[in-house]
Amino acid sequence: MNVIFFGPPAAGKGTQAKIIQERYGLQQLSTGDMLREEVASGSDLGRKAKLIMDRGELVSDEIVIEMIAKRIDSPECAKGVIFDGFPRTVAQAEALQEMLSKRGQAIDIVMELDVDQDRIIERMEKRAAEEERSDDNIEALKKRLQQYNDYSAQVLPHYRSRGNVPVIDGNQQVEGVTAQIEEVLQVKLPS
Ligand code: AMP
Repeated sequence: MNVIFFGPPAAGKGTQAKIIQERYGLQQLSTGDMLREEVASGSDLGRKAKLIMDRGELVSDEIVIEMIAKRIDSPECAKGVIFDGFPRTVAQAEALQEMLSKRGQAIDIVMELDVDQDRIIERMEKRAAEEERSDDNIEALKKRLQQYNDYSAQVLPHYRSRGNVPVIDGNQQVEGVTAQIEEVLQVKLPS
């Protein structure tokens, strides 16, 4: 089963994806995490990506599509994938669909994690203090929220026109959010 977690920065996509990965064996693929690994490794790609990420802008479609393509056939993805922070553009969504259909697969569920804007800012400030992410500063944050509003306006209608996109209330505590996600997943999971 393949799932997309769609939502603004600091909506809790990563936290929830890790819980669902643990419980159901679906593999979290986070393009943000992959890019941060590149940055940490000091690779050429990492150096280029860091400049873009620190500005709160989007890395090119080509780069993130390539990163997903490299991972999708790995054994840990056999049971399915939770796409976290990908796709962020319609071009990425189309590339993903093509990648999956070549493998006889599809996206089974797209969920939107909805969180109030002031709560996002609160969470990002907390995360910036805890994790020292260089793109969790207020300027990059504003830009990332604006980017999210821009790209979700394209990507969400793309998926909504193909089926139901359940909205998860991401303002709740972690367990409350997980319970809502599980309820949506139950419909599709083998019992
Ligand atoms: P995230 O951890 O998902 O918030 O991603 C952190 C940053 O990585 C974003 O602000 C972008 O600069 C970059 N990034 C992550 N995923 C993507 C993507 N699918 N497309 C373009 N840029 C991305």
